[in-house]
Amino acid sequence: MESIALHILGCGSALPTVEHWPTSQALVVRGKVFLIDCGEGCQLMLRKQRISFSRIVALFVSHLHGDHLFGLPGLLGTLALLGRTGTLKIYGPQGIAEFVDFIQSHFMSYTDAYPIEVYEHSTTESQTVFEDPSLKVSTLPLVHRIPTAGYLFEEKCAALHLDKAATDFYKIPLADYPEILLGAPYALPDGRVIPNSHLTRKGRTPRKYAFCTDTKYNPQLSSLVKGVDLLYHESTYLEVDRERAESHFHSTAAEAAKIAQEAGAKRLLLGHYSSRYSDTSLFLKEAQAIFPNTLASYEGMTLEL
Ligand SMILES: [Zn+2]
Repeated sequence: MESIALHILGCGSALPTVEHWPTSQALVVRGKVFLIDCGEGCQLMLRKQRISFSRIVALFVSHLHGDHLFGLPGLLGTLALLGRTGTLKIYGPQGIAEFVDFIQSHFMSYTDAYPIEVYEHSTTESQTVFEDPSLKVSTLPLVHRIPTAGYLFEEKCAALHLDKAATDFYKIPLADYPEILLGAPYALPDGRVIPNSHLTRKGRTPRKYAFCTDTKYNPQLSSLVKGVDLLYHESTYLEVDRERAESHFHSTAAEAAKIAQEAGAKRLLLGHYSSRYSDTSLFLKEAQAIFPNTLASYEGMTLEL
């Protein structure tokens, strides 16, 4: 099975601390790098974790709060200095195009800069924004102070694989394989019909990763992230500060755990910790009481899906 790995580059929130960097993550799918949010220091953390800049395919920005995108000017400039020629795709809510345009016209005009394609998407409904042969990315509507989207990353796997021994046994010509792979039975020249299940094996279940930050507790989210292998859900606050969480449109660790539980996620990953707490084990303890399979993110953490 080919590797899908999530690298945590930053998991703090808006105010700087010496413990954490602001939000950014790299999802590496079959060697291709997909960046999720780009807080300050993103490019330094990429270097530190030895993630190749040249393999960055696309960047997804959840919302236009500084702790999620102030790393963008530095990163885009570095890619130009490194001589990138391939197109970079950037996705985000309305306003991201203007921000990228400003960076390009003020800081990248002196180079023969690479092309950047920017796509603005809805934050109120789920829509597929990116698709390639190995991955599909859809938005997840979140509830925050400004338009914000999470992202659902779904691996693309063949639903069926040919059973080569069976197709050879029945002497089925190559030209008929595509139809069988779509699930059709096969009629032999002598009139016998071979059921599809005798000619194919079921493919693997696609792996899924959901990134949900920033958001207040939103029970509707769980149906959109049903059964994901890994759910990253923000836990800016602890239950003791629930009122503050609500008024700031953020979640507590217990609320993140409730979403994971309702969604039937396999694992929950916490992050976006407020600078008011210095001990991340408190988040872990609170969430694990509801959803035991919880992990607390930290800079430098790598998780295989
Ligand atoms: Zn925010």
